[in-house]
Amino acid sequence: MESDLDLFDSHCHLDFAAFDGWRDQALRNARSVGVRQILLPGVTAQYWSRLLQLCQLQSQAYEHYPLLYPALGMHPCFMAEHRPEHLELLQQHLAGGEALAVGEIGLDFFISDSDVQAQQLLLERQLLLAKQYDLPVLLHVRKAHDQMLKTLRRFKLPRGGVVHAFSGSEQQAHIYIDLGFKLGFGGVLSYRRATKLRHLAATLPLESMVLETDAPDMPLSDWREEPNRPERVRDIFEVLYSLRSEAPEHIARQTTANVREVLALNIA
Ligand SMILES: [Zn+2]
Repeated sequence: MESDLDLFDSHCHLDFAAFDGWRDQALRNARSVGVRQILLPGVTAQYWSRLLQLCQLQSQAYEHYPLLYPALGMHPCFMAEHRPEHLELLQQHLAGGEALAVGEIGLDFFISDSDVQAQQLLLERQLLLAKQYDLPVLLHVRKAHDQMLKTLRRFKLPRGGVVHAFSGSEQQAHIYIDLGFKLGFGGVLSYRRATKLRHLAATLPLESMVLETDAPDMPLSDWREEPNRPERVRDIFEVLYSLRSEAPEHIARQTTANVREVLALNIA
């Protein structure tokens, strides 16, 4: 029997080769546990057309699959693959209304050879595009929250967005929320030692939270040895409601509504 939940995986790299050969199965499994919508962030220009194609195909087979929504961007962990002309290509896609958000973009100072300046420049170019086309952004931020917040204050994005796999402090969480952002919670919540994050997930306003898998990355604690998959957003949802006082149905409804609000998918 199919679940009557309506969950939204706000961050899943379904276009990655890790899903080749079992993508359909991954989608059907996700749908059967109540995942009805998935947002696919783009990471490099090489994969954008494939990602867009995936989203288009799936939208024609809604009965058995979750709906897939596209975002396009250049990820800070793949600096070596980005070229100046990719920014022009991104602009063309955005001008054509092909993406619902600009992402995955951001700052990652955790990677050892990070060129901080190049990352910052690429981020700013893409924030400008988000502003120009009035789109929300999907942010990847590791060890760089203060610099990101400083940048966002300067850019004043009209649509905000999502800070995916949020890993900052409580204070930083509130500043993002004040700037119009939702915070993404994923597999890390399933680890009992993630006490700081679990505390945040238990106490932040539900209106500011979205669920995500980041599949095939960020495996949950019970499945550390295998690639993550979109159906696991159901497990993340279960961890979240075990931490909170609201009814599970309310948590499902609100977290899904939050992603839909960010993407302006407000037709019920
Ligand atoms: Zn990602």
